[in-house]
Amino acid sequence: MALMKTALSGVAISALLTLPVLAQDIPTDVTLFKNVDIFDGTSETLLEDQDVLVVRNRIERIADEIPSSGTYELEVTTGRLERTEVLPGAGVTGFAVIDEAGGTETREVAVNVIEGEGRTLMPGLIDAHYHLMLAASQGDAWRLEQPDYTHATMVIEANNLLQRGFTTIRDTAGPGFGIKKAVDEGMIPGPRMYLSGTLITQTSGHADRTLPFEEPRIFSGQVPVGEGVMKLDRVVNGRDEVLAAARQNLKQGATQIKIAIGGGVYSFYDPLDVTEFTDDEIKAAVDAASDWGTYVTAHVYTPKGVLRGIRNGLRTIEHGQLMDDETAQEMAERGVYLITQPFEADESLKAIADPIQWDKYVQVVDGWERTAELVKKHNVKMGFGTDLVFAPDMNGTQGDFLARFSPWFSNIEMLRMITSTNAEILALSGARNPYQEGPLGVIEEGAYADIILVDGNPLEDVAILGDNGSNIPLVMKNGEIFKNTLD
Ligand SMILES: [Zn+2]
Repeated sequence: MALMKTALSGVAISALLTLPVLAQDIPTDVTLFKNVDIFDGTSETLLEDQDVLVVRNRIERIADEIPSSGTYELEVTTGRLERTEVLPGAGVTGFAVIDEAGGTETREVAVNVIEGEGRTLMPGLIDAHYHLMLAASQGDAWRLEQPDYTHATMVIEANNLLQRGFTTIRDTAGPGFGIKKAVDEGMIPGPRMYLSGTLITQTSGHADRTLPFEEPRIFSGQVPVGEGVMKLDRVVNGRDEVLAAARQNLKQGATQIKIAIGGGVYSFYDPLDVTEFTDDEIKAAVDAASDWGTYVTAHVYTPKGVLRGIRNGLRTIEHGQLMDDETAQEMAERGVYLITQPFEADESLKAIADPIQWDKYVQVVDGWERTAELVKKHNVKMGFGTDLVFAPDMNGTQGDFLARFSPWFSNIEMLRMITSTNAEILALSGARNPYQEGPLGVIEEGAYADIILVDGNPLEDVAILGDNGSNIPLVMKNGEIFKNTLD
């Protein structure tokens, strides 16, 4: 090893590491993307013809030209990358570690070179409103099949998300703490997961899935299947029960709390116009979450519901398609994010919908255009979340949802939603954010290496991010490649 170090000669490049590096942390291999055009998650233009070096799970260096072999000198005491020197021959990089006594040690590592050939390199996609279990469930299968069957479908869907280019989801109701653990441990492929746990709802609320003749738990003592076995929702009433439900989710590892505070489309008991949970109940959820350093989001469509929510401390709003001018203005003033869906009144959906549900759905579809105008008028911060449920065959359209915003938003605005703005929403989890080594949703030195390569330029056409990931030949998450169909 020492011989190799002394044989070095050539180009010197300096760069900085963000964290101290210890000798035992030197990886056995690194990944180098050559010749890519970068969309960094925020900028309006591509950074053309760049190289990107990934070391461990983060982006180490972005530059015009990074040699595919050489020596990276890492000073142990400060963690500074001293210089890179080119070695004859490709594919091997030596890391020279300068220890505290001033001596050096060089270790060979393999360089996995990815020839980008002018493709776009951008942050992995983020879906800020997903339900891993419900997206994987064919209709009501989640409560009709054995739980382990349902969990198997979730494992399959976790990998499908990655294959479509989605490297992070924010799960806004449902189980998944065990699957997240297995993903994070590298046991199974899947995206980063920010889980809400059970959706907290009131009796008769959006997530009260009891049958009409079923007595609620508080009267019967019986725990409904969605609550007990499948961990999808929690029906509670009053401050104490809301606190208990929120704290149970936090205990399991929830990164944010989700409550339902207004009528829903799929739910049978609550018309769209109703408001759910009192000020005191909403405040209870916010108290529990903020004591844990995180925040609360809510399912809600109406102005009254949105206003009650944000005045009691909600940081994000899910849906909001029926909002009005005053509501949009106050959301903007309070810096509350909106995650909404441009649903379409598809005739094929009408054919299978219950008439009551269809009537509510049409109201939401009609409301969306007005909401889009209000969002633009008041500059409300917008995230991106698909809310795909009950039709696994449709999950391949996840990326196609982005282009549906085209009548109202520019390509760069839409691309920010699905990358950097969604990452801002994830960061609201504060102390409960499980991924704090670097930023998500951006391509910059020090950021997590959640990276996709795209055939084409999404700044010219965001639709190329759809079609079940067919234009996304490579997906990397946390520095590891999960898809590579490049020749
Ligand atoms: Zn949802």
